[in-house]
Amino acid sequence: MSGVIVVLGRQGSGKGTQCALLQRRYGGIVHVSTGDMLRDAAASGSPLGRRAEAIMATGELVPDDVMCDVVAERLGPLLESGITVLLDGFPRTPAQAASLAGMTAADGLLGAVLLDVDVAEVSERMLARGRHDDTAVGIARRLELYEEQTAPLVDWFSERAMLQRIDGTGTPAEVFERLTAAVGGLVPLRLSR
Ligand code: ADP
Repeated sequence: MSGVIVVLGRQGSGKGTQCALLQRRYGGIVHVSTGDMLRDAAASGSPLGRRAEAIMATGELVPDDVMCDVVAERLGPLLESGITVLLDGFPRTPAQAASLAGMTAADGLLGAVLLDVDVAEVSERMLARGRHDDTAVGIARRLELYEEQTAPLVDWFSERAMLQRIDGTGTPAEVFERLTAAVGGLVPLRLSR
């Protein structure tokens, strides 16, 4: 048995940090970050990577069909081998959410957690971390797309009673404590195994 836990939250809300901590805390969980996958592809210079690099630099989204293929290819083997996936950065649009529902078996979508941090704070955090796509214009565009395309997914999961909202402010350790309480409740048997 395995499944997918979707980690939602604005850019800069701490998804990457928290997923890394969760992966370290629990066995049998793997963090899959689409942003990291695309940056690795860009570094490798593959055709996908070159295409993604140009899009990421502008803050726009990689097309849904490309992303769905990339994610399906990565998730398939993990789920088959019984691993629980923390999915970070996908789904980001309603089309991607529909595609994920198709990729996971009937009971394979375990739930979603939302790391809640307001726009002012994530903007500050991103400017401070200074990743190369974290320019003022890029940040503004990504946050705009989040409100337009990704925020509706919060409702999508909420309507299916699959959403847990976590206060994402405070120190990473404080957020982690809240998150483990939520994720532990989501899949207690699998996590304590
Ligand atoms: P952030 O959440 O700060 O935007 P990510 O590392 O998650 O950072 O993503 C970086 C970039 O990768 C995005 O701006 C976008 O261009 C691309 N990307 C990542 N995930 C997706 C996705 N699911 N759909 C489309 N584009 C994506």
